[in-house]
Formats: sequence, structure tokens, C-alpha cells
Amino acid sequence: MERSGTEEQQIVSMELTQADQKQIADWLGAKCGAMRCKCCGYMGWQIVPLAMLPIVVDLHSTRFFYSAGQPLVGVTCTNCGHVLFFNPAVIGIKPDVPATAEVPGATPGE
Ligand SMILES: [Zn+2]
Repeated sequence: MERSGTEEQQIVSMELTQADQKQIADWLGAKCGAMRCKCCGYMGWQIVPLAMLPIVVDLHSTRFFYSAGQPLVGVTCTNCGHVLFFNPAVIGIKPDVPATAEVPGATPGE
């Protein structure tokens, strides 16, 4: 499958860099200290290696607002899987270039 290599490269490029993950870990250590999971009490955490963008929804009209979400980075409790989300801009991780919307199926450069 010739395309899988390209798709795999795109997935890899979405991952947080090692520097980003270290910045998150250092920031959490400085701001939150030894974090204990509110669900199970465990103190082991793992940074989710992908930033996420939740979709904003109006619960009354059920309309989705795909471009209104706030980027988030996650940290997972390695015992129970509870996930905490943090704002990467507050941590100091900001885009190198302005955000662009990608349309699935669109051909790059057109
Ligand atoms: Zn837990």
C-alpha cells in the first residue's frame, strides 16, 4: 500500500515533540507538584503524545462548531486511565505558524 507510508508520516507529524512533552512534564511538576489521581489516588502519569481539539456543540440546537474548540494536551493516570486536560498556550506551547483548517480529501496545494 503506497499511501500508508504517507499517511503514517502525517500521523507522526501530529505527535507532540519530545521537547513539547518535556515542557509539559516540567510545567506540571512546577505548577502541580506530585499529582495524585482524583479517581484512584495513584501518582503515576503519562503524557498523551497527541494534542486534541474538542468539538464545540450547542446542546440546544445540536449544531457542531468545528473551529471553535480550544486545543488541549492530556495526561493519563497509568493505573485507572483517568485523563486530565491542560491548555497548551498556558503551558507555553504555541503554534510556530497560524493554524490552518485541513479538509479531509482535499488535495494539498490546490
Ligand atoms: Zn487513576
